[in-house]
Amino acid sequence: MGATTVVAIIPLFLLHRLTTHATPIASVNVHNFEDDWDYKIQPHSEPLIGEVTHNHILPPEIKVDVPDTKFVQSSSSVPERVAKKLGDAVRSRVSCSVCRLGVGLLQREVRKNTSFENIRTQFVGLCVAFKVESESVCTGVFDVFGPDVLPALKAVRIGADEVCALCLGEVCGDVKNPLHQWEVQFPEVPKPVTREPDLPKPGLPTFKVLHLSDTHYDPDYVVGSAANCEEPLCCRSTSTPPLTADVVPAGKWGSYEKCDSPKVLLDSMLKSIARDHPDIDYILWTGDLPPHDIWNQSKSSNLDIIQETVEQMFEVFPNTPIFPALGNHESIPAGSFAPPWVHDPDHSVSWLYTKVADHWRKWLPASVGNTVLHGGFYSILLRPGFRIISLNTNYCHTLSWWLVVNSTDPAKELQWLIHELQEAENKGEKVHIIGHIPPGASDCMKVWSRNFNAIVQRYENTIQGQFYGHTHADEFEVFYEMEAKEPNRAVGVAYLGPSVTTYENHNPAYRIYYVDGDHANSTREVLDHETWTIDLEEANKSEDDPKWYRLYSAKNSYQMESLRPKSWAKLVDDLINNADLFELFYKYYYRDSPVRPTCDAKCKLQILCDLKSARSHERHKLCHDLELAFSS
Ligand SMILES: [Zn+2]
Ligand SMILES: [Zn+2]
Repeated sequence: MGATTVVAIIPLFLLHRLTTHATPIASVNVHNFEDDWDYKIQPHSEPLIGEVTHNHILPPEIKVDVPDTKFVQSSSSVPERVAKKLGDAVRSRVSCSVCRLGVGLLQREVRKNTSFENIRTQFVGLCVAFKVESESVCTGVFDVFGPDVLPALKAVRIGADEVCALCLGEVCGDVKNPLHQWEVQFPEVPKPVTREPDLPKPGLPTFKVLHLSDTHYDPDYVVGSAANCEEPLCCRSTSTPPLTADVVPAGKWGSYEKCDSPKVLLDSMLKSIARDHPDIDYILWTGDLPPHDIWNQSKSSNLDIIQETVEQMFEVFPNTPIFPALGNHESIPAGSFAPPWVHDPDHSVSWLYTKVADHWRKWLPASVGNTVLHGGFYSILLRPGFRIISLNTNYCHTLSWWLVVNSTDPAKELQWLIHELQEAENKGEKVHIIGHIPPGASDCMKVWSRNFNAIVQRYENTIQGQFYGHTHADEFEVFYEMEAKEPNRAVGVAYLGPSVTTYENHNPAYRIYYVDGDHANSTREVLDHETWTIDLEEANKSEDDPKWYRLYSAKNSYQMESLRPKSWAKLVDDLINNADLFELFYKYYYRDSPVRPTCDAKCKLQILCDLKSARSHERHKLCHDLELAFSS
């Protein structure tokens, strides 16, 4: 459950007429979408870290016992679970026609000045009557989301058809409006010829990189509370026990149900990382720090979580550079990132950027303040010839309501990215990109994703790695050359790091990457990656600290020649054709969770298509062959 809840409830307005009253929704002056920020800034040019002297041997020895491999439990104690993606679950509950009718009605009411209070009363009444959520959740959702969503809908210049196509994606058609059909501009520099360098020889220096994502720390987690509650987030003293089932008590180290991370889980993980990996060179931290109780969060509760988590990271890794990216859950309401042309302080997201700019100063140079305060993104030179660019991919979020007003390159982020990449190309630098929402996610807007893909294709020689989170699964996305002579040529790969939170059905996990290090002709490519996890079911039987262990290494488990894009594309083909290999991949997808849902043909098709879809809402084009293979 996420911000999409609001969309799911909107259609209920269909059944009630709203009455006109005082205090109409205020109009927000959007300043004609003016954003006078000059993106042509000098890239950061002093290497952030000194020469790395760690010598990481590949493959590294395993220092922790690996538990026996388990298979999916089929016992009656484990209810049959349905595989679903975060967001997709709610999305599938709302059909396009229902969305169009609901949004149309809501737009009309807002424009004819129906009061906020009136809409609130009607909303909560219908939300409860239709058993969408409990009264406290319905009220909370409206109070947190309403003040942002309703003024945005009032400012929207497109009709309900196009609003639904933007929010729900390709299944609801296309958006023709020029405010949502934009193209980034490339400099007139021809793309260099693509030549595949030799694979780095074994024994050359490497970087060892930790990737943490989606911690979703829940300070209100209570051991023994209902893990299978009625609300969208459970394991809290306020959780309502299930009406029709026995209570599943929240475990000490976490729960497979709709629960986020207790403090002890994060403590145990960070402590074991510090112990098992004292040789980490730097950390990628791809966001989603607050828990999933989006209906009762506030700016201050989110800022408290961010501060506590940042301080904890600094305490455990005092001497390791950390490169963060912003998650959709960092904002209030969750997922809302108004572009800079929304100057109104009630809706601008600068309250968040100001705070994180402050926190991130622990690891980042002062010069990134310009871009962080403007749009929550930055670029730094890590070592000579090696750059890290952290994007705020929440600017492609389909449920970031101000983007429905005008989605044109929010905060000029992609135009800035092109400027950075062109400068990097000119200087022969290689670049790693990090962000939270992966560009192929179904909740990343099609127009943003299309532009981003054009950038990846143009700068394929420069971009040597991409790292995201958000889906909570252990997976990846392949970028293919589109509208080209060779439509199946892979030009990039995005790694989607597994979540620390179990939400939902996952074992908690983190990633380690080995990256080609400092030497002449370094490609800066990812040489291998590992996923580390715990057996949560086993851990909850004991008070002792859980055992974090290496679940798999990509290169070994999937027998990959390299971790170059073409090898990932080959793996996708192998996964399509080899059912046993897919089983293995699916086991890792949930980090060997014993409660992972059974994956039927539909689930398999969805997962495989996700792997082929680094470009969002092009599934029919990208997965046509797959659809044919699965329908035969
Ligand atoms: Zn998340
Ligand atoms: Zn997320």
